[in-house]
Amino acid sequence: KRKDEQRQPPMTDKLLGGLLPQGFDENSCLSRYQEALYHKQPTKHPSSYLISRLRRYEVLHKKCGPYTESYKRTLESLKSAQHNGTLATECNYVVWIALGGIGNRMLTLASVFLYAFLTNRVLLVHPGGYISDLFCEPFPEVSWLLPPDFPIIDKFKTFYQRSPYSYGNILRQNNFRNSTEYSLPAFVYLHLAHDYANRDKLFFCDEEQTPLQKVPWLIIKTNNYFIPSLFLIESFEEELHNLFPDKEAVFHLLGRYLFHPTDVVRELIARFYEAYLSRADEVTGIQIRTFGKYSGLYDYVMDLVLGCLRKEVLLPEIIDKKPIMYRSKQLKTKAVIITSLSSRYSEALRVMYHGHQTATGDIIEVYQPSHEEYQQSGNKMHNIKALAEIYLLSLSDNLVTSAGSTFGYVAQSLGGLKPWILMIPTNQTALGPPCQQAVSMEPCFHAPPAYGCGNKKKVDAGQIVPHVQHCEDRNLGLKLV
Ligand code: GDP
Repeated sequence: KRKDEQRQPPMTDKLLGGLLPQGFDENSCLSRYQEALYHKQPTKHPSSYLISRLRRYEVLHKKCGPYTESYKRTLESLKSAQHNGTLATECNYVVWIALGGIGNRMLTLASVFLYAFLTNRVLLVHPGGYISDLFCEPFPEVSWLLPPDFPIIDKFKTFYQRSPYSYGNILRQNNFRNSTEYSLPAFVYLHLAHDYANRDKLFFCDEEQTPLQKVPWLIIKTNNYFIPSLFLIESFEEELHNLFPDKEAVFHLLGRYLFHPTDVVRELIARFYEAYLSRADEVTGIQIRTFGKYSGLYDYVMDLVLGCLRKEVLLPEIIDKKPIMYRSKQLKTKAVIITSLSSRYSEALRVMYHGHQTATGDIIEVYQPSHEEYQQSGNKMHNIKALAEIYLLSLSDNLVTSAGSTFGYVAQSLGGLKPWILMIPTNQTALGPPCQQAVSMEPCFHAPPAYGCGNKKKVDAGQIVPHVQHCEDRNLGLKLV
């Protein structure tokens, strides 16, 4: 067998075991039916219940999506300040607004989609955040993009924690739970970002979900992967268990269902993969993301990276000999893909491996697709590169990610990988091992509510059910395992 033939995983079922709907024009978006092409890990098995619920959702989306008769009828509710709660609308919606970088956007889109799914709402995506430049439409026939003429679209820029339309503030004014059926608002803004107030967090309580059901338009802005806390809402528990018997595959499945990179992004992925990764015997992905003062501490971070590679034996040690001039056939080529805003780490690693022989004799090639220097989430091409890199990382055999980074979370879950997490501290100097392997491939919810519902006593949300635990990299965070 030629080496490149060995590297190509078999083309498995293009519908990913029934996860994806049939009927899309394959040429309209090349990545849609080619997910299985490069991934090392096959898609985890979707439950038959998840498959049937997805098909049901697609029917609902087609009936209620933008510009349908039902959509137009539900828009009527926005015309008056108060919505007549006795007239149940046939379609209800949840609108997602972009916040944060691409990792944040993908995690929150999946979270809001699952919430829509659980509450029989239709997901509509605010077109900010370059969504249509990055991803193909996921639902057949009817778009997921919120129309630009949506009546209250201009109000969105005033939606933040103190907005009078926010659920927390409506509750504070106490005119929601006590409101009669006739005075329900037609829309409620749910502020679920890191700086949300305790009242906003009541969203995660069963008793608050009931009145929300009657509001036709929920608008959510969040930079949090809030799915772990949905698993703690009693009324969703059984449904979630049936949808996802394998708790660590939630984002993995939702991500492979929802996110199909546009042809522009796919071309970047395919070109880089074919040129640098496809012929290697093994691919190691290293995602280096630093926050705050650690962005300037290259040597400190590089020591963590090298310490992790050494401790976990992810790459061979170098020895003090010049590289040999010939290659024996048994020696392996290992490709390393580094993603980072800075090129310093990959340069240092490249110099190290090019200047020395490895203890195993293996050849190590180090590649970095881009180094953008700083985050530019308002720049289209910057986002396209970032998404391509998330996908490239997800195609690794072994993955090293950085603590607290949603960019890394998306790569690991899409790839079906349990990464080694570099323990780059957020403030003071870290002690302990340079990295730790994640217990599951699921992302971490960084800012879960710390308060119990009802009696408002503080509870440790990591102790309630065995499949929701605190994260390795953020000890107040929660993740599914
Ligand atoms: P997080 O901030 O690490 O949780 O991840 P996000 O993806 O939400 O935001 C970080 C943003 O910074 C990314 O979306 C990119 O725009 C940029 N960025 C960070 N690291 C990289 C990288 O390794 N490669 C590229 N191309 N962009 C990056």
